[in-house]
This record gives sequence, structure tokens and C-alpha cells, in this order.
Amino acid sequence: MTKYVYFFGAGRAEGSSVMRNLLGGKGCELAEMTNLGIPVPPGFTITTQAWVHCQRAGRKWPEGLWDQILEHLDRLEQVTGTRLGDGERPLLVSVRSGARVSMPGMMETILNLGLNDATVEGLAARTGNERFAWDCYRRFVTMFSDVVLDLRRDVFEGHLGAMKARLGAPTDADVAAGELRKLVQAYHEEIATRTGKPFPQDVRNQLRLAIDAVFDSWFAKKATEYRRIHAIPEDWGTAVTVMAMVFGNLGETSGTGVGFTRDPRTGDTRFYAEYLSNAQGEDVVAGIRTPQPIEALRDRMPAVYAELLEIATRLERHYKDMQDIEFTVQEGTLYLLQTRSGKRSARAAVKVAVDLEKEHVIDQHTAILRVKPPEVNEAIRPVFDDRERAAAIGGGRLLARGLPAAPGAAVGQVVFDADRAVEWARGGQKVILVRPETAPEDVAGMYAAEGVVTSRGGRTSHAAVVAVGMGKACVVGAADLSIDEPRRQFQVGPHVVHEGDVISVDGGTGEVVLGAIQTVEGRLGDEVRELLVWADFYRRNGGLGVRANADSPVDAERARAFGAEGIGLVRTEHMFFAPDRLPVVREMIMASDQATRRAALERLRPVQRDDFIGIFRAMDGLPVTIRLLDPPLHEFLPNWKEYKEMVAEQSRLEALGTDPEARRRLGALIEAVEKLREANPMLGHRGCRLGITHPEIYGMQVRAIMEAACTAAEQGIGVEPEIMIPLTGTVGEMKETLEQTRRVADGVMAERGVLVRYLVGTMIEVPRAALIAQKIAEHAEFFSFGTNDLTQLTFGYSRDDVAKFLPKYLDMGLVPADPFALLDQEGVGELIALGIDRGRRRRPDLKVGICGEHGGEASSVEFCYKVGMNYVSCSPYLIPGARLAAAQARIRDRLAGSDDLR
Ligand code: PEP
Ligand code: MG
Repeated sequence: MTKYVYFFGAGRAEGSSVMRNLLGGKGCELAEMTNLGIPVPPGFTITTQAWVHCQRAGRKWPEGLWDQILEHLDRLEQVTGTRLGDGERPLLVSVRSGARVSMPGMMETILNLGLNDATVEGLAARTGNERFAWDCYRRFVTMFSDVVLDLRRDVFEGHLGAMKARLGAPTDADVAAGELRKLVQAYHEEIATRTGKPFPQDVRNQLRLAIDAVFDSWFAKKATEYRRIHAIPEDWGTAVTVMAMVFGNLGETSGTGVGFTRDPRTGDTRFYAEYLSNAQGEDVVAGIRTPQPIEALRDRMPAVYAELLEIATRLERHYKDMQDIEFTVQEGTLYLLQTRSGKRSARAAVKVAVDLEKEHVIDQHTAILRVKPPEVNEAIRPVFDDRERAAAIGGGRLLARGLPAAPGAAVGQVVFDADRAVEWARGGQKVILVRPETAPEDVAGMYAAEGVVTSRGGRTSHAAVVAVGMGKACVVGAADLSIDEPRRQFQVGPHVVHEGDVISVDGGTGEVVLGAIQTVEGRLGDEVRELLVWADFYRRNGGLGVRANADSPVDAERARAFGAEGIGLVRTEHMFFAPDRLPVVREMIMASDQATRRAALERLRPVQRDDFIGIFRAMDGLPVTIRLLDPPLHEFLPNWKEYKEMVAEQSRLEALGTDPEARRRLGALIEAVEKLREANPMLGHRGCRLGITHPEIYGMQVRAIMEAACTAAEQGIGVEPEIMIPLTGTVGEMKETLEQTRRVADGVMAERGVLVRYLVGTMIEVPRAALIAQKIAEHAEFFSFGTNDLTQLTFGYSRDDVAKFLPKYLDMGLVPADPFALLDQEGVGELIALGIDRGRRRRPDLKVGICGEHGGEASSVEFCYKVGMNYVSCSPYLIPGARLAAAQARIRDRLAGSDDLR
């Protein structure tokens, strides 16, 4: 016969912590605490297996379950010296849900079960407190009716409210016993009318119905939603714990509280708890009464307080982690009702892990593994104050939830175009740039803004990539915003937000909130530094390097401060968008002859060169991978909307017959836009295709890189340039661009009389390149996987339009995750593994990295380690997380003993 029920009580328990899957988090820890000798009210837990068997049999309880429950009930009655349904010494129990992982508040609990018209009198007599007994009864009837009989609580709250009004009683506590007795009578009548049956007086039947209802609460809408968000399997089910009641509402020597063994906001080592005298936990949850600081307990009952502290410390040592506990004091006696690993802020997660290592509670491996990589990134950013955020959302100020594209908390005034953003920011205002989507010409506005919100686009859309790089908070694809640019406003539901109105943007959660939310400052604090020093020690010993994607000297310096070991991607096109450079770039693009084009390029060369010198200086002694121009040229020209305005303007001028010079300029620009327009620009004239048709552009860039390298080398700076060709797909492209590059690079060194060791390699972004990697590696000296494009081209999903269907796909489970955020290991990953393998067959020492957005995402970093990459490269702000993720991958690998396999 399968054992479905496990007992705990009187200092012994049948279960323990290791039985989490069977007994649920609550059940297994109550058992563990019992075995530790910690005061826990006795009870028993019905396993998740019982739930599973029950579901499989079409919601029919498995054979023997009820008998086992009755057997354990008997044991509970013996231990407590009371009996369920006894008129003189009634046992009262709570019936609680508890899944393997905590799902706070998502499932049901029933308190005070065992009360009926007879036992309530027994309880009154035993406690000598009639009011208390009837208060318990009315609470139980309300809860039972809500959870089991499906009657809404407000039906009962309505009766209570009316009674208080009639009596002129300001609070529940002012309603006397006799009145509560009448209230319960009214509740009974209400139930009989609404359900056609009387309230169940048979206490065993109450228990059976309650267990069933708690089993079923697994399927409550909120629980199902929660599981979907947190990827908790549907078939795990819940355990049910039936436990003797203890009462915090028996007078001034009773009370209830919750506490954390450390401050969950900061990680500081102090008992962070709240207490409510003469109350049940339910009062706190329902917000009926506001808890007091824990000092209230210390002042009132110092011995109980000391015992609580001692137990909290013991639990933390035992579980080797910060604990979140619930406790009740019944007439001066302390009981623990729950312990679990405490939820904490990112900052606290780091501090707690480091402190526990220093206190010799955990070792360094454990400390490193305990912090989630995004937490170290988050720990260095300003964040919203938790309480203010909750209050804002609770108060109906949440405007939208989009895709969290770049972490950070930003508050500012809404602006709808980049120029306004720059203008207002110059005037000292903080702004949030809100756009349908962003384009390269918005970059200056994004830079000036505190944060960016778009109503379209995915995680690797322009807005997302640029914002991550800049360290700006960014939410993309907030489809609920309907943006009206001409009227400078957006609407969402009933809210109309005008230019200048203040909003708050959380790039970590994707929330856009009306009004300002207070932020708390983030920084690379001592604990983060320390944790990362440990992480680097394990990572460097045979693990992944971590480089940065950085496009300017300032970014490069920041990256180095965050621990970058080189630059894995300089996107040179970003250097072209500066307001003083764009006109020259346009001149170059629109040149009708070679001489004009070369002249424009000659003007660009020194500015590029100076940028490169700055980057080499910041990275002194570390490798710098510079990618030659990648985007199609039309990205530097006016966009489609501006084009239409230009055409209208030209017609206007023509009709007037004035200003021939302006008409000529406009005409040339219109012609260029028309000439360069492509149906599928992402598959168009870009990457090395551009370098091959316009060798003078790549020639200028290579020259600028090598001149910068020579100058820097002469200044004693350690330079290691790696020139990278984008979007290679054929061997011919690789060979042609390589030869072109070498010719120019060697020429510069000969001219300057300086020798610099440089490499020429390629991005692997086109699936074909991965497939023929062996042949490409004959020429390329390194590979860098551009997984943004590789994902786009492997799936055939446009990275800029994916938000149109991805949410639906995610909802329907057609893809497990956004492949632009989490590397698709099954498909894209297979191409990467194959590409590395084939490449190294030809060139065993081929250096391989990744520079797509995945390079900063923990699970993707682990994958990169497993397939044997040399480094990952990501935005400067994601470097701390990548360092940690890479260390974790290495440690897990070593712990699994699979080192020999690599
Ligand atoms: C990529 O495609 O992964 C990449 C890094 O290049 P970009 O995002 O600039 O296209
Ligand atoms: Mg690319």
C-alpha cells in the first residue's frame, strides 16, 4: 500500500527536507524543523503523489488515502490531547497547500477547521474567552464557504460591515461575543439559501471537503498563471498539510509575525521582522491591521524574542541560507509555522552569498553558484524602491507591460522624438523617449534620455540593442501604447499621456508606470567586486574569457572598469551617426563619382582613426575586434517617413518655381533614397557584400584601424587589433575581403615602418558560413558568432518584426522562449557547435567567440562554454553577469567531473 501521509509532532517527523518533491516545501520543512527540535505545532502532510493519483483517476481519491488520514488524525489527537469534533476538548486544524516550489499566495488555506455549533462552545469554555471562540468560528465559516463552497467572501463581509455600522463599532474587535454569535447564525442562513444545504456540521466531512478544495486550488486561475510565468510544470501538484491550530489572538501574550534572518533589501546582517500582537496571520494578509516592528515583541516578551532569534540563527545555519520564517506566539509559547529560503533583492543576494562564505557557512563554489548572473548586473544599477513600485501598480498606475529589453530603472518626462529628447536633456530635464520603434537617427535622443520605450520591436530590435549598449533602461514591444506622434501623446486604456508627463520605466520587468517611482542607487559595491574576484579565479582556470561590445572610447573604459578582457565587437557604423559625421557619410553615399566618394571617405578617416586610438588606449594590452561596416547604406539616409515629406516639399517648391538649389539638393537625396531602397534590407546589400562592391569603404576603415594601431604602438600602448568581416557566406567573400584587408593593412605598416600583429577573421552570421566553416577557416584567423543575425536567418524571423507574433507563439508554447534573448540551443546552437568543430578541423587553434546579444545571457554563456568557445562578448553593463555565468559554467562542469570530456 502506498504511503500517502507523513506525520510530524512531539519532536519526531517521518519526513525531512530531502522529501521536498513528495511533501512540498512547507510540509518537508515542517518535518525538518520538528526533527531539529524546533517548536512546531504537530500535524501531517498528504503527499503530492496522492494529488497525482487523484488527478489520474479523474479526481477520485486513491484507495486507502482517507483511512491513512484518519489514522494520522488519531495520532494527532493523541499528541495534542484533543479530538476533532469533541464538545469539550476540540481539536482545531489548519489545512494548507504546499507545492515543491513556493507559489506565495497562489493556492488556498483554511484555518480553524473543526469548529461547529457544538465545538465552538467547547473552545469558549476551554479558553475562557467566548468572544475569541465565536470570532474563530465566523472566520472559519467565511473561509470555508469561500474555498470549499465557492461563495464569495464579500457576502459575509457585507453582513459584518452592516453589523458594525448598526452597533457603531469602529473595528472587528469592538463586536462582542453575543453579536458574533448572531452573525454566525446569519452566515448559516445565507449559506443554506445560496447552496440549498446547511453548513456542514460533521467535522470529518469538513476535513475531507477542505482537503479536496486545497487539492483543487492547484487549478485556480492565479496559480495557473503563476506556473506559466515561472515555468513550473502543471503535473507537479500540491501537497496538503493538516496541522494543529495555534492562536496568536488569545490576548496580549499572543501574537503573530514574519521575519527574515537578514535584511532582504540590502542583505545586511540583522533580523528583519514584523510582529502583530493579539492577531492571526490572516489579519496581516488581509491588511486589517498594520504590523509593528519586531521590537514590539522584544519589549513585551523578551524571553520569547530571545528564543525566536536563537531559532532564526539556527535555521539559517542549518539551511546555509537566509530564511523567511512565519511564527505565532500563543499565550507566551513560541511556535514556528514555516521556514523557507527568503526572496531577496539582487543587491542582497550578492551580499548574503559573500557574507555566508566569510562566516564559513558555505564555500566559495556555493557562494558563486548561489547568485543569479542577472543579479550582479542588477546590483550595479539604480532600481525602483519595491514598496513604491507595488503601491504604484496597486494604485492602478501600471500603463503597460512590454518586453524587458535593457535592465534599469528610469524616471522622466515623455518625449516623442529624438531632437526633443536632446533639447530637453540639454536643459537639464530627465526624459523618456517613447517611439513606435527606433532607428539609427534616434541614437542621440536615446543617449540623452534616461530610458526608452517602444511600442513595436523585439529584444534585438534597434532600440533594445542600442539601449543595452548604452546602459539605458529600455522596454520594447509595449503594444498597448497607441502612439499619436503628431499630437504628441500616447493612449493606453483610459490614460492619455502627453508630452512632458512623467512616467517610470523598469527595463528589468518591462513595466511602464504613470508618474514617478523613487529609485535607489546601484553600484559595483564591495561585495559584487569580491564575488567577481572569486568567480574570475575559477573561470580563468580553463574557462571562458569575457569581452565587451563597445563602440567608443568611453564605452571601452566603462567595459574595462566592469572587468572586460578585451573588446569582442566594435560596430563601426555607430561612429558614423554622430551629428557632425552623418552629413559626410551621406556625401560619400551620394557621390556620383569615385573622386567625390574618396574625398568624403578621406574626411571620415581621421575621425575613425581617433576613435580607434581612444579604444586601443582604453584596452591597452587587450585584444580589440573591430568589425568593418555592416548595415545597408540606406540606413544613413532619411527614412521612409521623411522621404515622403521630402517628396511633398519638392512638389511644393516646384509649384512655386523657387529655390532651385534647395530643389536640386532635395532631388539628389530623394533619388538616393529611391536607388538604395530594398525590399528586404536585412537580406540585402549589407555586410561584406557592401565591402566587395565598395572596396573603398572597407579600404578607408582598414587604413584608419591600422594607422590608429601604429600610432598607439608608437605611444607604447599594447595593441592587438582583430579586423572582422561581417556576414560572410561564401569562401570567395572571405578570400576577397581578406586579401583586400591585408593589402591595405600591410601597406600602412610599410608606410609607417611599424609592425603590429593583427588578425583578420569573420563573423559567422549566415547559416551557410557555419556549414562551410572548414573552408572559411582556411582564410579566417578567428570566428565570432553573430547570433542576432544567425538566429534571424536560421529561424527566418525578422529581428525587427518578431514582436508581431512572438507573444502569441510564447503563449501557445510554439517556441519555449524568445530565441533572440535565449540562444536556441537546439537549432542555432547546433549550427554553432558544428561551425566550431568544422572550423577547428582546418585550424585547430581557431579563436572563437560570440558577439550577439546572447553573449550576456547566462544560459547562453553556459552553452558557449560547453561548445568550447574562447570568449563571450556583451554590452559593458552585462559584463559582471557574464563573468559570473562563465564561472558557474566552469564550476558546474568541474563538479560534474566532466572535465576529461572536453
Ligand atoms: C549579430 O548579428 O549577432 C551581431 C552581433 O551583429 P549586429 O547585431 O550588429 O547585426
Ligand atoms: Mg549581425
